[in-house]
Order: sequence, then C-alpha cells, then structure tokens
Amino acid sequence: MKNIVLFGPPGAGKGTQAVFLKEAFQLIHISTGDVFRSNIQNKTDLGILAKSYIDEGNLVPDSVTVDMLQSEVNKNPQAKGFIFDGFPRTISQATALDTFLNEQSTTIHAMIALEVPEDVLVTRLLERGKISGRSDDMDESKIRNRFAEYNEKTAPVKSFYESQKKYYGIDGVGTIENIAEKIATVVNTL
Ligand code: AMP
Repeated sequence: MKNIVLFGPPGAGKGTQAVFLKEAFQLIHISTGDVFRSNIQNKTDLGILAKSYIDEGNLVPDSVTVDMLQSEVNKNPQAKGFIFDGFPRTISQATALDTFLNEQSTTIHAMIALEVPEDVLVTRLLERGKISGRSDDMDESKIRNRFAEYNEKTAPVKSFYESQKKYYGIDGVGTIENIAEKIATVVNTL
C-alpha cells in the first residue's frame, strides 16, 4: 500500500495534484473539504454542522472530521492506497490517523508538502473564488482566517511527520506538470 498525506496551505494546489497522483498510482483520493462540500450540497446533518465552520474559515471539530475520514477509508477496502488531501489538519487528527491505520496493519508512507509563499496563495485563492464560487475563497478576511488556522493548528503537523522521517517538501510554484513530476519522483521512491 502507498498512503500519502498531501499537505500545504489553502491554495497550494493539493486538489490539482491529487488528480495526477491518483491516476498515476491508482490511489483513492479523499479530500475532506470535498466530502464536507458534498454534504453541504445534500443538506445532511454533517453538512449543516460543517457549513457553520467552513463559512467562517474555521476548522471543523476534530471528532467530526476524524469519524468522517474513517468512514471514507472504510468504503474502500480494496484500495491500493490513499491520498489524504486536507487531512490531517491538526496534531490530534494526525495521531488518530496513525492509530486507525495501525489497526489496519498499515501506515502513512509520506507527507508530501507543497510549499508556496503566502502572497501567491492569496492571489490564487481569490482567482479560484471567481471561478468556483466557493464563498470561503471570495472574501479576503476569510482567506486570512484560514491562514491563521493553518499557521496555528496545521503547520505543526509537519513536525509530526518530520520526526517520523516521512516529510518531503516540494516547491509548489511552477507549472502543474512540472510539480506533478516532482511529486511522482518522490512517490516512486517509497
Ligand atoms: P479545503 O477544501 O481542504 O480547503 O477545506 C475547506 C474547509 O473545510 C476548511 O477551511 C475547513 O473549514 C474544512 N476542513 C477540511 N478538511 C478539514 C480537516 N481535516 N479538519 C478540519 N476542517 C477541515
């Protein structure tokens, strides 16, 4: 199995790169943001709860997110591996993921982090907001709050995987194809 955490701040290109990775290595792509958005669209209880956090640019509580992630993994018992996109976003989620994967006799093999400067990210997110209509991408104050959440709660997750020698930083500025190649090179070594 190859289980990969695709990491990086909002707008780093995780979703874009996940599409390439998934095809190249036949992995199951789980984006917690996408799962929340589809629950919001379908007006499920989970969606109604998540919306109140997402609309403000806050993280959804860990217990809700971890339960949801586990159920997404359990839907794919035959998977050759997973790309976790947008998860874990807190140390507590990272610890829960380790425990959960250990119970299934597997582990995270790599955290691949897309490194992009913040001013580039803000421009990218505002552009994406015009096309996607995502309300959390259209308002600069919400974007800034997502960075604040990222810096406070998510950035420490990097050290969690660094200490396990699983961290691979990739320059996330460049063409989509070029970045995809750099990621594939790392994944091929795993
Ligand atoms: P994304 O599409 O990954 O940018 O996620 C959009 C929003 O969904 C985030 O700003 C959070 O509000 C919420 N979200 C996604 N993944 C998580 C997670 N692992 N933990 C908490 N909240 C999350």
